[in-house]
Order: sequence, then structure tokens, then C-alpha cells
Amino acid sequence: MEKTIRLVKKLERLPAGRHPWIFSKGIGRLEETPEPGEVVRVLDRDGAFVGRGYFNERSKITIRLLEWNEEVEVNRSWWQEKIAKAVERRRALPSLSECDAYRAVYAEADGLPGLVVDRYADFLVFQCLTAGVERVKDLLVETFEELFEPKGIYERSDTSSRKLEGLQERTGTLWGEEPPDRVEISEGCCRFLVDLKKGQKTGFFLDQRESRRETAAFLAEREVGDFFSYTGGFSVAGLLAGARSSFLVDSSQAALDLAAENLALNRLPKQEISKGDLFQTMRRLHKEGKRFDAVVLDPPKLAPTRAHTPKALRGYKDLNLMAMRLLRPSGILATFSCSGGVSPEAFQEASLWASMDADREVRIVKTFSQAEDHPVRLGFRESAYLKGFLCVVE
Ligand code: SAH
Repeated sequence: MEKTIRLVKKLERLPAGRHPWIFSKGIGRLEETPEPGEVVRVLDRDGAFVGRGYFNERSKITIRLLEWNEEVEVNRSWWQEKIAKAVERRRALPSLSECDAYRAVYAEADGLPGLVVDRYADFLVFQCLTAGVERVKDLLVETFEELFEPKGIYERSDTSSRKLEGLQERTGTLWGEEPPDRVEISEGCCRFLVDLKKGQKTGFFLDQRESRRETAAFLAEREVGDFFSYTGGFSVAGLLAGARSSFLVDSSQAALDLAAENLALNRLPKQEISKGDLFQTMRRLHKEGKRFDAVVLDPPKLAPTRAHTPKALRGYKDLNLMAMRLLRPSGILATFSCSGGVSPEAFQEASLWASMDADREVRIVKTFSQAEDHPVRLGFRESAYLKGFLCVVE
């Protein structure tokens, strides 16, 4: 029997646009506690139907709503249809026609809370972020196996957010072959080797695909600084588009080793590669008189939560200030922020402070957001996190 949960608010006081999250403070008195991840029927204070969602008492986000139509049960075919639709949406994206790596399911944004699935050529990588997804994992694996007929499905549920759900981190093969240490993918004319088992996120920053492609065109004939390079995505795209050279800096040696392999894979000449903390490295390069015609600045998330936003903004300002100082006149700066808690407006303001301190006149000529396979669901603002500007720095 389906369990019923009462909320403390009336239906009309819940967030509009089918926002899927219900927090613990919004849950009324429980008659019986559902198991972690169990699908429940949710009613408002007065007994009106709200939706069906999965429940986890250990999580602050206690219910994630899945379905708003009372007639529709959340069963095997519900999950299968939702997944098939998410995959269909990807197949309809023109930007993916020349790529064999993309995000097939982007959690809440695809109406599948807690589930991320990335395709990398013949392999799939799963991230199961919640108890609700954990509970139907076998069904999910079966569904993806049929849809994609991959060589293997690998789990990368090694994110700290699992703790908030009372789950352990987990990695390993879920189905089929274990992926090799390097899986080759294509992104337009670029090829990349990806380490699905140990790389950052699920192995590659798929969300920057369009930024890489669009930035590359601006890098022709230029000496580029690829800062926070990871495995060399912007360098490969830029050099193939005619950049004169690229200087790659990242704090991860494993990422830089793979970057060198990626340059070779694309038959590009060796470039200068340096391991270091960019907050220090950029300062040192400036002192040494090193200058660039273009800088790509793609730091990790500086604000993991909204509480970190003020400190993050100072970080973005510092990084952008240092990057501007390293640019020759009329230099190109492609600058990014993947912190969900930092709005595009706030990021622009931090860039303005940087330009004032650097005493440079800066114009944005292009704006970026996350790639099309990471859609932003209008009713779920949290799905928007990546923003970037392509600037000309006089
Ligand atoms: N531009 C890359 C993605 C960058 S992700 C691409 O297109 O694939 C952010 C990168 O910053 C990661 O590779 C991480 O290792 C690196 N990083 C994190 N903190 C750093 C620091 N303080 N200094 C230098 N690199 C750092």
C-alpha cells in the first residue's frame, strides 16, 4: 500500500512551476515512516493531492516530487518513459550531432531527481545522488542497457552530497565491461581521452562543450593561457582553430598528464604545461613579465553553497583581475563561473571590480551558459549554474 504524507502548507502556498523539493520543515506529523527512497502520495494540509514523490527522512530535502497527475502511478513504466523522453530530447539537439559524449539525464532538470547519466562513446556513467534513485537502480540499469546497448555501465556515485542522504560513496561497474583507463570521445573536430573511473565529475566537463567551440574561434593566431585547464579541452579546441600556442595550468597532475595525451591525440605540437595553484601562478607569471593575447579562466566551483557567495565573489574578482593584468592590449578573456549561488549579474559585477582595479576597459562580446544537454528547467532555477563571458580587454 502506498503511504500518504501530509504537508504543513496549503497547495497554493507551495512553490509554483512544479518545483520538486519539499523540505523536512514542510512535512506534517508522520503516522508511519516510509523507507528511505520509498515513493509516497503527498497531500497538502487540507488533504488536496499534491503529487507523488520519493521520501527520505534522513535528507533535508525529504521529498522529491516525481509526478503531479493523481491518475499516474510511479511504477516501472513511469521510470522507463521518463528516461526514454530525456534521451529523445538529447537526440533532437543539433549540437550533439557530431559528439558521442553528452549528459543523457540531468536529474531534476529532466524530471528525474537525483539521477545523472553521462554517455561517453560506448560507456555510460551513472551518478545516483539520492536514496530514491538508489532504490530503483536495478531498473535504471536495465532501462539504459536496452536503450543504449553500451559496452558497460559504470557508477561514479562518489559525491559528498550522498552523505546528506545517509548513503555511502560508491564507484564500480554496474553492468557489462569495466571501462578502460582511457575512453576516447569526439566533440566536433576535437578528440579527447577521458578517465571515467578516476577523472573529475564523471570524467569530463561536458557542460563546457559549447563554450569550448565558441571560444576557440576567438583564439586563432593568439598566444593563449588555458588556466584551470583540466585535461586541455580549451587548448585542444583553440589550437585546432589556429591558436599560436597554449600555456596550460592546473593543480591536478593527473589532469595535466591527460592534457598532454590529448594534444598528441589531436596531432598538435607539445605546449608548455605547468602544475600549480593559479592564485599564485598568475601572480608569479605577471611578475616574470609573461603576457598573453587570450586567457581562458575556468575555475572550479568557488561557492559550494549560497553561504559561500560573498567569499566566492572576492575569489572571482581576484582571478579576473590577475587574468586581465596578464593580457596584452585588446586581449581576449573567456571567464567562467560554475557556482550556482553566483548569479550572472553578480559575476558581471565581480568582473567590473576586476577591470577597475586593473584599470582596463572591458567589453562583453558573448555570453555563455551550460551546454544544451544540461537544460535549465524553468520551474527549477537550481538547474542553472554555469555562466561565462567572452570579453575584449583593451
Ligand atoms: N576548462 C576545463 C575544466 C576546468 S574544471 C575543461 O574544459 O575541461 C576546473 C579545474 O580547476 C580542475 O581541473 C581542477 O583540477 C582545477 N583546479 C582547482 N583548484 C585549482 C587551483 N587553485 N589552481 C589551479 N587549478 C585548480
